[in-house]
Parts: sequence; structure tokens; C-alpha cells
Amino acid sequence: MIDTHSHIYSEEFDKDRDEVIAQAKATGIEQVLLPNVDASTVDAMHRLEEAYPDYCKAMMGLHPTSVKANYLDELSVVERNLKLRPYIAIGEIGLDLYWDKTFIKEQKKAFEQQIIWAKQYNYPIVIHCRDAFDEVFDVLDAQIDDRLTGVFHSFTGDKDQARKVMAYKNFKIGINGVVTFKNTTLREVLKKVPLSFIVMETDAPYLAPVPYRGKRNEPSYIKNVAETLAGVYEITMDEVIKVSNENARSLFKL
Ligand SMILES: [Zn+2]
Repeated sequence: MIDTHSHIYSEEFDKDRDEVIAQAKATGIEQVLLPNVDASTVDAMHRLEEAYPDYCKAMMGLHPTSVKANYLDELSVVERNLKLRPYIAIGEIGLDLYWDKTFIKEQKKAFEQQIIWAKQYNYPIVIHCRDAFDEVFDVLDAQIDDRLTGVFHSFTGDKDQARKVMAYKNFKIGINGVVTFKNTTLREVLKKVPLSFIVMETDAPYLAPVPYRGKRNEPSYIKNVAETLAGVYEITMDEVIKVSNENARSLFKL
């Protein structure tokens, strides 16, 4: 399994990061992709990647909830790092109107600028979209071309929103522990989404799947996501893993 979205460089893992990674390897996690948040997370992310080369792969980007008055300074950190070395993707980027709408204009500008860089560097984009599907689609519609690829990470949209993502053709849908939650509509939505659009992720330390819901999430728990997807698609876990791995490999050029 490939965990396509995991913040295991964060301080929640400072006490037992090596054990968490050993457990991931023992569970059959082949690779863990690390989305950046902002300037404050870059060093820890790079350090983890150095400690586990080929296993942990870093992205570069500015998260929408970190877009504030100083967002241009934050963007210049992203720009400088992109010039310094290669990354697996631009992420995570997007719009979040759930936590705070104060900087919506700035969020849109930051999202747009980072899509432009993704096109320039030929990197996929990892999109964070919370309470903002219409706005994210507006920005994307203006920027989309045949080469732009990406994933709607932690997808929790409805059937129409899933349809719109699939219409972009080169975009995937990132599924995590939310799919295991008792009260989610996501399993129903996924009945209209072919497995060829799905990549798996944890979003650790957040959104731990059942039966760990509410606890700290970690890459090894992705097996619970695979198990639930096997139920949704009425196929074996091995088939879920095979197809979602192929999708992740082609999107991130692993
Ligand atoms: Zn994230």
C-alpha cells in the first residue's frame, strides 16, 4: 500500500516516529508521501525524508489554512525550495472556507500561483478543499490544461462534485479514514466512482479510521481504508490495493 498523504514529520510523532514507520513497513506500506503545510514544517519534512530516502517523499506547497496577511513571504519560501531540488508534487494547496474566510482572496491567489508552478515544473497538485468545492472548481477551470494532474485529497464531496472531478480526467480522488465512519455518505458516493480514480491516504495524524477513530492516525491504519473500499467495490482487498497503487504510481511517477 502507498500512503499518498501523511504528515508524519509533525510533532505528534516526535516520540515514536521510527516505531510508527517500522509498523508501517511491517503492515506492507511501501511508501509514504509527505505534504508540506507552510514554512514552519519544511525542515522537519526534509529531515524525515533524509532519514528515510525512497520511503518518505516530500511535496512542496502552502496549505490554505496557513494563508494569512504574510502569504507572499510564505509563497516565496515555496518558490525558493522548488528551485533548489525536486519534489514529488505541489501540495498541499487549495481552499479552506471552513476554518476561516478572512483571507479568501489571498487563498485563491496562492492556490492559483501554485498551480502555475505545478504546470511549470510538471508536478501533480495535491488539493485540500474544505467547504469550497465551487471556488476550487472556479480556480481550476481557469487553469486546467491537458497536462495538469492531481488529486482531491481527503475527498468528502457529493456525487455531482465527484463527477466534476472525474471530468477533469487527469485527477484522482484521495480516500482516507472518513470512508470508514458510520455516518458518512462517502461509501454511497463511491458507488458512482470507478476504482481507477481512487488513491488511498491516511492524512495522519488526523482522521483515523474506525476502530481507531478519534485517536492519532498513522500510515499502518491505511489497511482499514483498503478493507472498507473492498466492501464498497465488492472485490478483494488485494484488488483494491493493486489498482489504487497503480493509480498512485502513475499520478506521482513513483
Ligand atoms: Zn494534509
